[in-house]
Amino acid sequence: MARADEDILYELYIKLGKSAKKTNNKGKTKADTEQLKGFLNRVPTHLLYLDEMNLPQAEINKYLKKAKLMFFSYSTIKNRHPELVSACLANKMDQLVHSIARNEATMVSNFRTQELGGERFDIDSLFVGNNYFKQLLHFSAVEVIKKILNENITFTSVGKTNILYISETGKKYHKKDCPYCKGKLLKPATRAVINNLELTPCKCIKDEEERIRLNDTYRTIFIDESIHTVAWNENGLPGNAGSYSYLICKGLLDDESQITPAITIASGVEYVPEMQHTEKVTKTAIGKVMMIAAFDYDFKGNIKIFTDNKGAMQTWQEEKKNIRIAELFESVTVQFVPREKNTTADAIGRTHMCLKIPIDKYSDIKNKYDMYDRLVKHKDHLESQLKTEETTVAELKEQLENNKDVIEKLKEENSCLQSNQSFLRTFINSIKAWLYEKQSSQVVLSK
Ligand SMILES: [Zn+2]
Repeated sequence: MARADEDILYELYIKLGKSAKKTNNKGKTKADTEQLKGFLNRVPTHLLYLDEMNLPQAEINKYLKKAKLMFFSYSTIKNRHPELVSACLANKMDQLVHSIARNEATMVSNFRTQELGGERFDIDSLFVGNNYFKQLLHFSAVEVIKKILNENITFTSVGKTNILYISETGKKYHKKDCPYCKGKLLKPATRAVINNLELTPCKCIKDEEERIRLNDTYRTIFIDESIHTVAWNENGLPGNAGSYSYLICKGLLDDESQITPAITIASGVEYVPEMQHTEKVTKTAIGKVMMIAAFDYDFKGNIKIFTDNKGAMQTWQEEKKNIRIAELFESVTVQFVPREKNTTADAIGRTHMCLKIPIDKYSDIKNKYDMYDRLVKHKDHLESQLKTEETTVAELKEQLENNKDVIEKLKEENSCLQSNQSFLRTFINSIKAWLYEKQSSQVVLSK
């Protein structure tokens, strides 16, 4: 038999009292004695309000708060001056702690009836290995329990096919009409309760997943949000921009290691108006990717969305718009995944965001850059053509210069030849004249 909530809470408050700091004890003896006297007077009144007057819950909450603070102050003094505490006061204080525990146990009991499967969860295990008991000083036990339950949750889900069931004592959780649980009474339970009890999935859950895999009724979506500074925003002023990147895959994936190009349906980056809170960006992103799946890809089956924003995973359903869109599907599950295991969607965001500017401006610049690239190439081409032409002109000029020299030389040679010719002619003529003279004298002699 599990221990009663009241006993567990009582022990948690005793632990809280022991954790109260001793602080400096010099010269405080008198003040401490005075304060303890005051407590001795006030405790009976509080016991009366808490236990006997049947006050409305709001009033009881007020006195619970006061009683807790008084007990904590008392514990602080007791820790530094135990000798000042009378047996009578110690006894009264113990009654007060019991009363606090009893009142809060009643509230916990109401909470158990509201939470699906709430009758089974175990408070004891919720407070093991953490410091949540310290929050009991400022929050009600139910508030702290809700916090711990949410802290342990890794996904939230809506849709008719996603309600889970548990039996009175079993160690597994089930689908509604579990074929392995015939004759057993199954009651719906929240994921928080299932987590708290560390229940494992029954074969009926695994059968269902297998059926889903075969029937192509699942899409798995990875999203990653980002808020970053931009050099200018839509109004041309520097500021922040919120955006998210997404990746939609066919099938029910367990993690991003199963992503392959063959099953990737779509990916992209979108801007959102929100630029302060990442949780809001993510909640918007969850709504937007559901719209993309439903309207761009006409898909109405089961959807699983991975996000590394825990707050958004817990509260996405609080947005009315999100719930309305989620109702289009068989089921929608939002699963928390640690940042280091959500790198694919993050990388998509980074590639698109490397310039840290709005996407339309990015595209605009990209177009202009491409155009510039083409122009530079064209310019280079023209320049090289011009160069070849210049070389041809220079070569022709040089040839022309060379020809000039040849002509000059030829001219020179020509005039030289001409002068040689005239000399030769003179020489020949003189020889001719000499020969003629010689012939005439011989004729005269022979006569
Ligand atoms: Zn089952």
